[in-house]
Amino acid sequence: CISLLSSQISDDWPGYSLDLFSYPAHYSGDLDCVIVPHGVIMDRTERLARNIMDDLGDHDIVVLCVLKGGYQFCADLVDRIKALSCNSNRTIPMRVHFIRLKSYLNDQSTEDLHIVGAEDLSFLAGKNVLIVEAIVGTGKTMKTLLKHVESFRPKMIKVAGLLVKRVPHSSACLPDYIGFEIPDRFVVGYALDYNEYFRDLNHICVISENGKTKYKI
Ligand code: 5GP
Repeated sequence: CISLLSSQISDDWPGYSLDLFSYPAHYSGDLDCVIVPHGVIMDRTERLARNIMDDLGDHDIVVLCVLKGGYQFCADLVDRIKALSCNSNRTIPMRVHFIRLKSYLNDQSTEDLHIVGAEDLSFLAGKNVLIVEAIVGTGKTMKTLLKHVESFRPKMIKVAGLLVKRVPHSSACLPDYIGFEIPDRFVVGYALDYNEYFRDLNHICVISENGKTKYKI
């Protein structure tokens, strides 16, 4: 896998103060800072859609959305690709499918990655597949998923990841389309959760120690 271009958020970037943006009052005290505001996510997603269109325009693709964290990014990315398809003579006919993975407890990756309710993906044989994932950390999840998808013999696989963390000893399997490269901190919002909380937050934020304690299981 190779990275084409990504917007890097450096390790010493303190993030935006939460006071600069609005967010649900039920999360006050649970977040440290906003690391990517919602509007910036949307603008970057529009550009990723254009890059995908430039590379894959006129191919039929099967979008494979990695649930649960990827649902918002996938919905917004597909929306932008649709808009571009309406406004140019190149189009991408898309089908959208979902796959649900679970590997995290609290803020720790666990060894046992499950595909929840694994269904037969044999319809992917000979197809162009675009895997859409919200975040890549160590890359273990993506590696396992790629192996699983490859076993159904698609013609081509591309990966779009909104966030890639700079993690020491990562497996270096990077998405083809990357939104932002971010520091190795646990982030929530824009459908990314901590034990199912924070999916109802628009911005991508760093969770506070208080938030981790409050929602720990
Ligand atoms: P990896 O296997 O690459 O370490 O982890 C990938 C998975 O872990 C992602 O699909 C995501 O579910 C979860 N993950 C990794 N880092 C974060 C994070 O900072 N926040 C959240 N909410 N999930 C994360």
